[in-house]
Amino acid sequence: MGAAEVSFRSVFLGPPGAGKGTQAHTVAAGPGVLHLSTGDMLRSHVAQGTELGAQAKGFMDAGQLVPDALIIAMVEDQLASNEESGSWILDGFPRTIPQAEALDQSLQSANAPLTHVVYFRVPNEALIQRLTGRRTCGDCGAIWNVHTHPTQTEGTCDACGGALTQRSDDRPEAVAQRLEAYDKQTKPLLDFYRSKGCLVEIDADRSPDEVSKELSDALAKEVC
Ligand code: AMP
Repeated sequence: MGAAEVSFRSVFLGPPGAGKGTQAHTVAAGPGVLHLSTGDMLRSHVAQGTELGAQAKGFMDAGQLVPDALIIAMVEDQLASNEESGSWILDGFPRTIPQAEALDQSLQSANAPLTHVVYFRVPNEALIQRLTGRRTCGDCGAIWNVHTHPTQTEGTCDACGGALTQRSDDRPEAVAQRLEAYDKQTKPLLDFYRSKGCLVEIDADRSPDEVSKELSDALAKEVC
């Protein structure tokens, strides 16, 4: 059975660069699956110049986590406005224990508990290469990598000819900070969800297609 044929409420957990966004994007291409990425939501607030964007930008550029209160309010709003959605994936949230506890509470009140927490495991050396080499097309959104998936002409998108840019938090100093924040603040969530019997672990140091196949099998059966 394919992932899109069953209903799920899943958290995608793992270090920055583990491929959570890529996989969530693929799963959400199926019918009735919502992909909620807190990183994308925050970048959109920054691009639109909202007050939340202004509050978040400094933390993001420095590779630090945005304060819990801001993020929790943003995610609760999103979940409330998508209450009728069948399946959803939270990508990049929760990232701290207080965020996980707040999520549990709001899902409990909505009587819609999590069905899976998927942990994408990738060694640090591979993460650094993925993050510092990542380039995004400003026109079509295609993602390339100067080390592992380069374009024919440096700086130009093969798909549409658009100019490629690097996320400001993919610079090496910010990447080091993001990995440190992950180790200190997010890794404890592995035990938090393991002790609830919710964690599904996937070796994500493989091609997106291989990871996608294992993920689809994992989402087909409820674990929590
Ligand atoms: P991402 O695209 O998921 O790597 O997120 C980019 C940046 O957004 C992170 O480095 C944080 O600064 C911020 N961010 C995203 N999600 C969260 C979260 N759940 N808690 C705190 N900060 C977050």
